Amino acid sequence: MRAELQGEIRRLTARGITPGLAAVLVGENPASTTYVRMKGKACDEAGLYHETLRLSRDTTEAELLELIERLNADHKVHGILVQLPLPQHIDAQRVLHRVTPGKDVDGFHPENVGKVSIGDPTGFRPATPYGVQQLLVKSEIETKGQHAVIVGRSNIVGRPMAALLLQDGPGGNATVTVCHSRTRDIKSVTRLADILIVAIGKPEFVTGDMIKPGAVVIDVGVNRVEDPSAKQGYRLVGDVQFVEAKQVAGAITPVPGGVGPMTITMLLYNTVQAARQWAKA
Ligand code: NAP
Repeated sequence: MRAELQGEIRRLTARGITPGLAAVLVGENPASTTYVRMKGKACDEAGLYHETLRLSRDTTEAELLELIERLNADHKVHGILVQLPLPQHIDAQRVLHRVTPGKDVDGFHPENVGKVSIGDPTGFRPATPYGVQQLLVKSEIETKGQHAVIVGRSNIVGRPMAALLLQDGPGGNATVTVCHSRTRDIKSVTRLADILIVAIGKPEFVTGDMIKPGAVVIDVGVNRVEDPSAKQGYRLVGDVQFVEAKQVAGAITPVPGGVGPMTITMLLYNTVQAARQWAKA
């Protein structure tokens, strides 16, 4: 998919428009620092302009909002992402809502949330669920008429995932069920899934007996678990017990790998879409 994007990037660059992404990182959360570095590297490889704005942990909300306004007005920047989580003293909603909708490549602004929920293609689809949808499409896994069960209802993954799978089009037309922490007897629901998408942030929560034989399992979770034998003292696992699930599932995504690289790819897509829409405006 990154190779497919190259043609469009070349066409835009030939017209003097290099799609540009600005990432804002507040504080030094190690996982966030890694994600932002990976996003920057992906931009470099794709030939996109990018800048990372690193702010100290004690940055005030007013200073952050001022920076967002500056990026909203910066012609080199077509996409802005604010890496979450933000420190507690900053109201994340207020910051995300300040990003101008046309540069909101994470798709968190209410205008884009609304557009995605009504199927307006000019809305930015949040990169992680968009990546899951494309992963299904590119793997030729039919979603039409299938029962998709999503575990997790966050604004970043679960809810937009449901909106995308419900749409009338490729990678859509599924029958969607969403589970969360108050769902009763969750196993009886997950076992109904033809496509099971798990995004809860609980290491290896979904075990083999929660999966219908032959189901497609998409593991969005990324969790650090202590592992003294690993060089860094931890290893990454998903929300699914991979070894067990692999015995039962028809197809399954690994962690790391799978959804993570797709998320970065879709962020590049959204940045190119932002530059294209900006060029047309
Ligand atoms: P989040 O905002 O913490 O939301 C977690 C959701 O899971 C909530 O809706 C919660 O239900 C539900 N949940 C928690 N425990 C549950 C349980 N025992 N049974 C059923 N539902 C339960 O998390 P998130 O931001 O969506 O992230 C989820 C995971 O995906 C994390 O591991 C995160 O690191 C990973 N992630 C990966 C990528 C990627 O690119 N690969 C991107 C984003 C996130 P309630 O609403 O009822 O509390």
